[in-house]
Amino acid sequence: MWSPDKVLVFALVAAFSFTPVHVLEFCQSTDHDCHSDSHDDTASNSQLSLHTFKSRWNISVSNLIQDLHQFRVSCKKLLEAFPIDEVNVNVARSVKNCIFSKSIPTPLKGPLRLAAASKDVIEGTLDLDVAVTQSDDFLHYASGGRLLSGSVPLAHRYGGHQFGYWAGQLGDGRAHSLGQYTNRKGEVWELQLKGSGKTPYSRSGDGRAVIRSSVREFLCSEAMYFLGIPTSRAASLIVSDEPVIRDQFYNGNVKTERGAVVLRLAKSWFRIGSLEILAQSGEIDLLRKLLNFVIDEHFSSITSEDPDKYLVFFSTVVSETAHLIAQWMSVGFAHGVCNTDNFSLLSVTIDYGPFGFMESYNPNFVPNTSDDEGRYSIGAQANVGLFNLEKLMVALSPVLSQKQQNQAKIILKGYVDIYHLRIHQLFKGKLGLLDEEQDDGYLIAFLLKMMEDTQSDFTMTFRQLSEASAQQLQDRTFTQMWALEDLSSHKRFSDWLSMYLLRLSRQQNDTDLDRQHRMKNVNPRYVLRNWMAESAISKAEKNDFSEVEMLHHILSFPFVSQETAEEVHYAARPPLWANRLKVSCSS
Ligand code: AMP
Ligand code: MG
Repeated sequence: MWSPDKVLVFALVAAFSFTPVHVLEFCQSTDHDCHSDSHDDTASNSQLSLHTFKSRWNISVSNLIQDLHQFRVSCKKLLEAFPIDEVNVNVARSVKNCIFSKSIPTPLKGPLRLAAASKDVIEGTLDLDVAVTQSDDFLHYASGGRLLSGSVPLAHRYGGHQFGYWAGQLGDGRAHSLGQYTNRKGEVWELQLKGSGKTPYSRSGDGRAVIRSSVREFLCSEAMYFLGIPTSRAASLIVSDEPVIRDQFYNGNVKTERGAVVLRLAKSWFRIGSLEILAQSGEIDLLRKLLNFVIDEHFSSITSEDPDKYLVFFSTVVSETAHLIAQWMSVGFAHGVCNTDNFSLLSVTIDYGPFGFMESYNPNFVPNTSDDEGRYSIGAQANVGLFNLEKLMVALSPVLSQKQQNQAKIILKGYVDIYHLRIHQLFKGKLGLLDEEQDDGYLIAFLLKMMEDTQSDFTMTFRQLSEASAQQLQDRTFTQMWALEDLSSHKRFSDWLSMYLLRLSRQQNDTDLDRQHRMKNVNPRYVLRNWMAESAISKAEKNDFSEVEMLHHILSFPFVSQETAEEVHYAARPPLWANRLKVSCSS
C-alpha cells in the first residue's frame, strides 16, 4: 500500500516534471486556426477538401500563385540589419563579427523525387497552388539546385551548450536560409533548406541529411503543428539518389544512405545559441544589434525605447519556454537533443532529430540512444529548459545593468511556478476537469503513478478516458480499450476511479458528452510513434512515399478517429517489434 505522503511527494515530482495545453489556449497562443472545433468526430477521413481549405484560410485557389517564377523571397531585412561574414569562402572555418555567412546550396545529385508536400503550408502559408509541387522546377527550388527569385542564401552563425557544455561555434552546417516570404496574411516566414550542402559552419560534416531523419522532421513538425504545439513547419521533402555515408548507431556499421532536403519554415530561426556565441566572443555591439532586431521583429509588445526591453524580452522567453515544454509534456513528446542551439528564441519547437513520443508512461523515457546518461529524458525536460534559460541569461548579462541582472535572476526563479501552473492546467484539461479543487494535483499524480506502475500507454490512456462514458467507467467496461484495461489492473485503480467520477459529478453545468468532447480535443488518438515513422521510412527509402503521405494526412487530424488510421492499427497496442527500435543523433 502507498502512504498518502508518498503519493503527495509524487504529485510534486509529477507536477515539476510535467506540463500540457488546453485547446482554447492553443487557439490563443498559436496563430493557426483551432483544429479542434473544426473537426467532426465522426466523419473526416477525407483529404483537406477545397471547401475546408477555403474556409480555413479564406483564400480562393484561383488567387494562389501558379508559377514558381513569380514567387519571390527577400533577404533585404537580414542583409541590411547585420554585417555579413567578410570571408566569402564556403569552407568550414571559425567565423567572427557577423550573424550570417553567404553560402550557396550544393545541388543534390538526381534524380530528384518529391516525397511529400504540405498542402497546408504550400497554400496556406506560401500562397502557392499545391500543383506547383508537381513540377520539375519545384524539385530544384526546394532542394537547392535553383535559387528562388530574390534569394541570397545565408548560413547562420551560432554556438551552443551541448549536453551541458559550451561547444563553441556550431552554426548552420547543413542549412541555408533562402530569405523571408511575406504572405497574403501579412505574416513573414523565413524559408530554410536543411540538408542542402556544406557551409562555413559544417565542421567535419558533409552538409547533408539522410532520408530517415528528413522524413522524421517533415512528419513530426507538421504533426506538432496539428497538435497545437508551437513549431517550425515543413513545406516539402525532396529525396535524391546522392549517396550519404552514415554510421547510424556509432558502432562501426557504416552504411550508404541517400540524401534528402526538407524545405522548412519558421518566423525566425534564431536560437539561444545565436546570442550565446556573441556574448562568448565579446561581440557586444553585435549582440545588442541582434537582440534589437529580434525584439523589433518578433516581440511587438516591447517598445524599442523601453530601458528594460532586454529584461522584458528575457521574461517573455522564460515564460514561453515554460509553456512550450509544458505542451511537449502534455502529448508525451521528448525532443531528444535539448541543447541551447536547438532552443528557439521564439519558443517554437525546432531541429527535430532523435525525438520520440513516449508510449508506456515513464518519466525516464529517453528517445535518443546516443544520450547515455539520459540527460534529455522526458522527465528532465523542464529542468533542462531552466538550464538553457540560465545560459540565455548569461548571454544577456553584457547588455544588462547590475540591477537588471539581479532582476533577471528573479525572473528566472519564476520559471518553475509558470511551468507548474501550466502543467497543472494542461493535465486538468486532459482529465476534463473544470474549475479548481484542492485535490486536483493529487488526482493527476495518482493517475500518473498508476500509469507508471502498470506501464500504461500515455497517449491512449488519456484518449480512452476521453472516449469512455462515465457509465462505462463506472461499470469498468473497457472492451477494446486496451490502455484502460492495462491501467485497471492496478490495485488502486478503483480508488482513483471513484475519486475521479466524484470529481466529475461535482462539475456544475457540465454533461458527460461535453466532458468527452473537451477531452477528445486535447487528447490525441494518433501521435507519430517511432514504429509508424520507421515503417514509412523503410518504404520511402525504396521510393514508395505512400505511407509518408498517409501518416502526414492522419496526423493532420490527430484528435479525430479515422478509418484509414484504424485499419493500420495506429491507435492499437504498438507491435512487439516497436520495442526494438532505436534512434540516434545520426542524421
Ligand atoms: P543538430 O544535432 O542537427 O542540431 O546539429 C548540431 C550542429 O551540427 C549544427 O551546427 C548542425 O548544422 C551541424 N551538423 C549536423 N549534421 C551535419 C552535417 N551532416 N554536416 C554539417 N553539419 C552538420
Ligand atoms: Mg540543431
